[in-house]
Amino acid sequence: MRYVSTRGDMPPQRFTDILLGGLAPDGGLVVPEHLPAIDESTLARWRDLPYADLAFVLLRLYCDDVPDADLHALVRRAYTAETFGSDEIVPVRTLEPELHLLRLSNGPTLAFKDVAMQLLGHLFEYVLARDGRSLNILGATSGDTGSAAEYAMRGRRGVRVFMLSPAGRMSPFQTAQMFSLRDANIHNIAVDGVFDDCQDLVKAVSGDLPFKARHAIGTVNSINWARVVAQVVYYFRAFFAVTGREPRPVSFAVPSGNFGNVLAGHIARRMGLPVRRLVVATNENDVLDEFFRTGRYRPRGTAQTYATSSPSMDISKASNFERLIWDLLDRDGGRTAELWRRLETVGEFDLGGTAAFARVADFGFVSGASSHALRVQTIRELDHRHGVVIDTHTADGLAVAQRWREPGVPMICLETALPAKFAETIREAIGREPERPAAYADIEHRTQRFVRMPADLALLKRYIATHAPAAPGPG
Ligand SMILES: *Cc1c(COP(=O)(O)O)cnc(C)c1O
Repeated sequence: MRYVSTRGDMPPQRFTDILLGGLAPDGGLVVPEHLPAIDESTLARWRDLPYADLAFVLLRLYCDDVPDADLHALVRRAYTAETFGSDEIVPVRTLEPELHLLRLSNGPTLAFKDVAMQLLGHLFEYVLARDGRSLNILGATSGDTGSAAEYAMRGRRGVRVFMLSPAGRMSPFQTAQMFSLRDANIHNIAVDGVFDDCQDLVKAVSGDLPFKARHAIGTVNSINWARVVAQVVYYFRAFFAVTGREPRPVSFAVPSGNFGNVLAGHIARRMGLPVRRLVVATNENDVLDEFFRTGRYRPRGTAQTYATSSPSMDISKASNFERLIWDLLDRDGGRTAELWRRLETVGEFDLGGTAAFARVADFGFVSGASSHALRVQTIRELDHRHGVVIDTHTADGLAVAQRWREPGVPMICLETALPAKFAETIREAIGREPERPAAYADIEHRTQRFVRMPADLALLKRYIATHAPAAPGPG
């Protein structure tokens, strides 16, 4: 498998060459040159594989420069009942005939990002050890992404994490989740400021290329290709779980923000998984819904990015979206680059009425937006009808999914977080506290470990330099 850039200007590379990187050198995103095709007989053979083995047979198609025995061992270490709460790893719960919940949120941080991140932790450790390198992951978080990264990288050899968060602005649960980690390779930095201040600091450090190289600074943001491909696995798993021995097309509904999760569904479909619809669900931040309805892609400014009760979907632009556009444009890097130049100059582009936009329907995409009132109502109704409590993001997905159900086609709604993380809205919806997994009962009372820092670039650099002494780089 060879990887290229969506903007067409990167010499092909192998999987382990692109694993630790961010953007392609030409500013595009890394994509596989072609997608492996899975035929019906292969699907039939994979049907009964345990999760880790299914992950192995799928991932080996993309990570083909990692020896099979090593990859299999890594995957088995990542996907255990101990980490994910059950042997199924991602159990399916049937709500009513033809309506299912794919439970992706039983990992250590109670959100779906764990599924990919846990594997990433093992992959990073493996490749760094192989190459005798180390990596210092620098990130900014307002909650979910940071904790998933920390729980994936804790204790991993060769990796340190420096995670900036806005002091006092995360929920007590999220704060406790991150700050109660005691691992020596995890550095929580509470910055006096808001999330944007944290992000600006990360950008400033990464923009200092000599510093970045000297201290082997990297990231684990949502454009990491390995994260996307790890997510492809659960679309296959859910299809098998729901259709049993008589395969028929299914639809998926995906609460979306940076377009990483539903992109994995698109890739599964392009590989041959019988998927009818991919329902892209947004909250009030509806930049994706607007595109799928009209062809117009119009990233928003901070002033038009709303803080909602499904905060992990509060995005202004969708960082993985370029991978879909590239596919819609028949993998034409030149045209993709042109559209992103347009985004920089004009601030939007419009594919409405073009052949490229017509492919959106061929690819099965439909969409819809939700709202706070609809989330609350959806959570309440599901609790009344089925005694199941879902989180606010999953509620956006389920609310939009209802508009796109069809007789005879199972609709699988991806659960992206557990309700325990969003207690305030859950109380508003059902008048009681969401259940919390036992392991988290006392999390707010554990000792917290973090450093507090003003939003000051020089101070941050000094902190990193002290805790991540200059290391030999990649070459
Ligand atoms: C990250 C996240 C999303 C959005 O997923 P994308 O891959 O960015 O589209 C949805 N729900 C929850 C709970 C999340 O943490």
